[in-house]
Amino acid sequence: MQNADGLGHSAFCILHFAFLVKRLLFAAAVLFAAVAASVVLTLPPRHLSLAAADDRSIAGIVHIHSNRSDGSSSPDDIAAAAARAGRSFVVFTDHGDATRIPDPPTYRSGVLCLDGVEISTNEGHYVAFDMPASPYPLGGEARDVIEDVRRLGGFGVAAHPDSPKPQLRWTEWTAPFDGIELLNPDTSWRVLAQMPGWRGRRELVTALFDYPFRPAQTIDRLLQPSGIIPQWLALAEHRRVVAMAGVDAHARIDLRGDPIDSTTRAWLPLPSYEATFRSLAVHVMTDRPFSGAAASDAAVLMRGIRAGHLYAALDGVAGPPAFEFTATNDLGTVHEGDELGASGPVTLQIASNAPPSYTTVVHQGTRVITSVRDPQQLVVHASAQPAVYWVEIVPGGGARVPWLRSNPIYVRSATPLAPDVMRAPITDTAPLATTGWHTEQDASSTASAEVSDRDNRREYRLRFALGGGAPARQYAAIEIDTPNGIAGYTAIGFTARADRPMRVSVQLRSDEASPDRWQRSVYLDRFDHDRTVFLDDVTPVGSTRSEKPPLARIRAVLFVVDLTNTKPGTTGQVWIANPALER
Ligand SMILES: [Zn+2]
Ligand SMILES: [Zn+2]
Repeated sequence: MQNADGLGHSAFCILHFAFLVKRLLFAAAVLFAAVAASVVLTLPPRHLSLAAADDRSIAGIVHIHSNRSDGSSSPDDIAAAAARAGRSFVVFTDHGDATRIPDPPTYRSGVLCLDGVEISTNEGHYVAFDMPASPYPLGGEARDVIEDVRRLGGFGVAAHPDSPKPQLRWTEWTAPFDGIELLNPDTSWRVLAQMPGWRGRRELVTALFDYPFRPAQTIDRLLQPSGIIPQWLALAEHRRVVAMAGVDAHARIDLRGDPIDSTTRAWLPLPSYEATFRSLAVHVMTDRPFSGAAASDAAVLMRGIRAGHLYAALDGVAGPPAFEFTATNDLGTVHEGDELGASGPVTLQIASNAPPSYTTVVHQGTRVITSVRDPQQLVVHASAQPAVYWVEIVPGGGARVPWLRSNPIYVRSATPLAPDVMRAPITDTAPLATTGWHTEQDASSTASAEVSDRDNRREYRLRFALGGGAPARQYAAIEIDTPNGIAGYTAIGFTARADRPMRVSVQLRSDEASPDRWQRSVYLDRFDHDRTVFLDDVTPVGSTRSEKPPLARIRAVLFVVDLTNTKPGTTGQVWIANPALER
C-alpha cells in the first residue's frame, strides 16, 4: 500500500509538472504574440527612399557626447558610426568648461570631425565650437559665457532651450547667442517621460519594442514640437539667429537618474549613435564641396553654419532630402540664412524633393502665408515689407514635427532698427574707499593687496593664490567699505587689468549678520580697460532676500576671484584703479 501510494503520488507529480510547463509555455506564447502584435501595430513607417536630387548640401551631425564626457563611445567609433549613417561631418560637444585644447579638425573614417564643448551656464547649456581653448574656465551667467565665446571667435548655440528639466532649459533671451536648437531628441524624451498620465510613458515603452526593427524611424517618431518658436522669431525680427538641430547623442540611457548628474554605471547603450545619426541631420550649403583637407574643409563648413545656410531634416523618415529656398527683390537674390534689404515686392522660391503627400508651409514670422501639398517647385509672391520668411515641409498623417525646417530669410528695413535704449550719461562720481578696505579669502587661499596713489590715480593691486585640490569654495577678494550705503548711485566705474585674461566678479554685500550678495562679472586682460557695472544689472549670488540689492544697506563692494572662472591652485594679480560710485 505504502509503495503503491508512493507511486501514485509521483505519477501525480509528473502530471502536475507537465501541466505547469504547458501553462507556462502557453503564457509565454501569448505574451510573445502580444508583443509581436503590438510591434507590428505600432511600428513606425519604413524609411521612404527619395529620388536623389543633389542640392549640394553637406549633411552632418552637431551636438554629440563621446566617452570624454557622458557619452558611451570614443570619437573614433562615433565617426565610424557617422560614416555608416552616410554623414560627412560631426561636431563633438562634450561637457566641459572650454579649457581643454580642442582636437584640430581631422578626418576619421572619412568623416570630418570638429571638436567643441557644451558649457553649463547659470541659464542653461551653451554648445560652442570653432574656437581655441579658453584661458580660464567658462561658466557663470550665460551672458558672460556668450561674451567669452564671441571673444574667442567661437560659434555658440543655445542648447535644448525648451528642456523640461529646469537646470537644462535655456532662459537667457537677451544676450547675443548665435544659434538655437529647435530640435533635440533628448528634450523630446524628457517631455514624454514627464507628461502627466500614461500617454508619454506608453510611447517610450512602445519605442523600446519598436527600436530594434526600425531604430531611426522610432527616434524620429518620439520627437516633440519645439515650444520656443515664438521666442526665436521674436529675436529673428531684430537679428539673425541660426536655427539648428542638435542630436545631443550620448548613446546611453541611464537606468537610475539622469546622465547629466549621475555617475551610475547602470546604463544601456541606447539609442545607438548610428541610429541617432540616421534619424536627423543638418544639411549645410557650402561655397565648395569638401576637398579632403580637414582644416580648410572645417573653415568652409563653419562659413556655411555661421551664415545659417542650413536646414534640418528628419532623414530617418524620408531621404536623402534636397531643398532650396531663395528670396529675390530689386536688390538681388539671397539664400536661407541671409538678410535682404527691403526694396520692392519679394518673390520666394522653394524647391524640394518632398514626397507628394507632404505639405510645404511658408511662414512669415508667426503667420502661415502659404500651405501647399505636393509642391516640388513653389513660387510665393510676398509683400515689400520687412519680414522673416521660413519654410517647413510637413508629412501627412498628423506628424508632430516637420520633416524639414529651413533657416529664415530676413528682409530688413532700409532704415536701421531702433537703437538700444541708451543710459543717461554719468554726471557725478564719488571715489570708493575713502574709509577702509581689506582683503578676504577662504581658509585654503591667500590674498594680499597694496594701494598706490600717483598722478590722480589710486590703484589697488590684489595678489591672490586660490587653494589647490578639489574645488570647494576657494576665493580671494579685495573688499572696499561703503559704510553709508550706495543709495542714489547708478553704477560702479573703475579701470582694471590683470596679469592674464580672466574674469573678476564685482559684488555688493549687504549689512545683515548673514549678508546677501549680488554680482556682475567683468572680463580683464593685460591692458587697462574702463569697466562699468550698473547697479540695476547685478544678479543675486545664491539666494538673496530680494532680487535687487537694497542700495542703502550695501556695506561693501568686493572684487572677487573665485571658482566660477578660475581654477583651484591659480595664482595671479589684478590691478583696480580709481573705483568710484557714479550717477
Ligand atoms: Zn545639454
Ligand atoms: Zn548635450
